[in-house]
Parts: sequence; C-alpha cells; structure tokens
Amino acid sequence: MTIASNVEDVQRRINDECQKWTRTSSDVTLIAVSKKQPEHKLQSALECGHRAFGENRVQEAYAHWGNKKENYPDLMLHLIGPLQTNKVKDAVQLFDVIHTVDREKLARRLGKAIAEQERDIPCFVQVNIGEEPQKSGIMPHDLTDFLEFCKTECDLNIIGLMCIPPIEEPAALYFALMRDMARRHGLHNLSMGMSSDYEKAIALGATHIRVGTSVFGAREDH
Ligand SMILES: *Cc1c(COP(=O)(O)O)cnc(C)c1O
Repeated sequence: MTIASNVEDVQRRINDECQKWTRTSSDVTLIAVSKKQPEHKLQSALECGHRAFGENRVQEAYAHWGNKKENYPDLMLHLIGPLQTNKVKDAVQLFDVIHTVDREKLARRLGKAIAEQERDIPCFVQVNIGEEPQKSGIMPHDLTDFLEFCKTECDLNIIGLMCIPPIEEPAALYFALMRDMARRHGLHNLSMGMSSDYEKAIALGATHIRVGTSVFGAREDH
C-alpha cells in the first residue's frame, strides 16, 4: 500500500461515515499522525497534497517539519502529545493547533508565550474521560472551572475537547460522554478517534481525528 492510497482510503471512510450521519465531511479534519515515521513517508503524504499532521513530541516535530514549513506554507501542525512547560516556547513557535492543554501551569505558560510571539493558536483541553490515574487530562468534574480559568486568566482560544479513551474498553461510550460535555460547554470541536476507532468517533461528533498507522503503516521504534 502507498501513502496516497492509504490517505484516499481513510478519506473515503470518513466521507461514508459522514454521509451516514448527515454530517459534512469537510467538518472532519484528518490529522495524519507522523510520529516515529521516516522522512520519505512524510514526503509522500505532502506530495499527495496532505497538509495536516500530528506529532506528540516537540523535538521530533522540529526534526520532521522544522525545515518544511517554508516550502509548505499551508502546513498545519497539531501537537497531540503531552507538553512540558520548558518546551512551551518552542511548541508555540512550531505548532498551529495544540490539543493537550491539561493543567493550570501549562495553560498560563501557553497564554503568555502565544501573546509574546503574537501567534493565534486554537487549543483543545484534554479530558481524562476514563478518569484513569496514570493518564493526563482534566478530570470531567473539574472541566467547568478549568475552562473558565483558561479563558479569563490565560486568554487561551479553547475551541474544543480532546480525549484518549481507556485502551481495553469500547470507545463509543467515552466518545458519547465527550460529545455531551462539549455541547454543555458550547464547544464545537472534538479531537477523538484513532486508526482503530475513528469511524465510531465521527458517528459521535469528532471534528478532528488523529490517524497514524492507517495512513503511514506501523511505526518504527527508535
Ligand atoms: C500515536 C497517537 C495517535 C495515532 O494512533 P494510531 O493508532 O496509529 O492511529 C493518535 N492520538 C495520539 C494522542 C497519539 O499519541
């Protein structure tokens, strides 16, 4: 399989799923997750016209995309992994969307860096929807206060919610909880769904799906 045919295949499934739920397929952004993928695959994706990519580490994202931004001005880079506060400035310089706002200290630093660099970066708040102790994300019962904090204290542009549901359980229940939570808070965007479950996520309102292996194949371990 080539990258081009993979992208085509995923996009066709997105279209089919949208049709099923009378959604507009342009309302679903396919983020091709390029972490741990070799350069030639990223290049193939670019050559078939794909522009939205997801990375979970700031340093690797620079290695992958730092020198490509100039040649591809419409590149959209999404940070989908945890962000350490000492990497905030670098992240704000490179990324166009941040999906993982998950604590007050980070929200404050982000707000400050975005203002200093005069950037406009839409953000998602990551929700620990399965309330798993080892996972990052805001607990559902803390969400209302946290959203208020992001808006009033940090001047962040929060456009939606993001989650990674528990691995061993059917994701649909969690996607449905996310949808209701976003609605209640008047947020229009939902970052949820990966290779194994993006169709279900679309059925339940996902606007940003993060798909790695179905686009690029298995990741290299390094
Ligand atoms: C790696 C990653 C993905 C992509 O996972 P696939 O199963 O390869 O589609 C999606 N979201 C996050 C947060 C990830 O870290």
